[in-house]
Amino acid sequence: MEYAVLASGSSGNSYAFSDGDDSFLIDMGISNTQLEKRMALFSFAPEDVRCIFLTHLHPDHSKGVGTFQRKHPEVPVYMSSVAFQMNKTVLEKQRITGPVVQYDFNEEIAIGSFTVTPFKTMHDSPGSAGYLVRHGNNRIFLMTDTGMITEDAFSYAEGNDVYFIEANYDADMLENGPYDAKLKKRIDGIYGHLSNSDAISFAKRYAKAGSTCIFVHLSENNNDVSIVEKEMHSNLSSGIFLKAMKRGDSYKGVLDEED
Ligand SMILES: [Zn+2]
Ligand SMILES: [Zn+2]
Repeated sequence: MEYAVLASGSSGNSYAFSDGDDSFLIDMGISNTQLEKRMALFSFAPEDVRCIFLTHLHPDHSKGVGTFQRKHPEVPVYMSSVAFQMNKTVLEKQRITGPVVQYDFNEEIAIGSFTVTPFKTMHDSPGSAGYLVRHGNNRIFLMTDTGMITEDAFSYAEGNDVYFIEANYDADMLENGPYDAKLKKRIDGIYGHLSNSDAISFAKRYAKAGSTCIFVHLSENNNDVSIVEKEMHSNLSSGIFLKAMKRGDSYKGVLDEED
């Protein structure tokens, strides 16, 4: 199977998964044009997308869904029932008018040969989720936009082949940066974002040699890819493939069935 980070960061987030037969996205915080451009780098196309899972309804994760659904009106968007019930005005504003499938946290959702399990995250967008994606014996863990790591997230943390972990901010840069006190408090609060040290200590505890760790959603103002790279290389074992996503970059990985 193939997986890809199509976009990462405060200006837009999107991930793609495909086994050649079935393809789906997690988040679409980029435009249709950007999606088409970025997917052209991979062997699956927007026409192959069977559904879109949302982590939450902040525009950097969901702003492209409305236009995507107008072009592909049969493609459903999956979100937690809490997210659906509590975000009616947001859904209207973002013109997400196509089919919605509501799920409960920890429900196992089959998409072809994939099993996608949403888990609860803590963020200032109601009903926000992270995901565990399984295909054969491959496991991909995706945790972004969460102020703290939930019990549910911990319960899926062990034994994954790929970890997408939010490394949003460097604590010193946030502290000394341009944001006002209220916004700083929001970001490092329990409904905010994960810091570099939160992300790296989580990876240190769970990512084993042979796995891949990709740090995502780096803040433009309160982080720098060179800081994350330095910290990940000095704290994490050399047997782990490490990557920090720079804004505007895409990345594709492949997992073999035996991995
Ligand atoms: Zn968010
Ligand atoms: Zn975000």
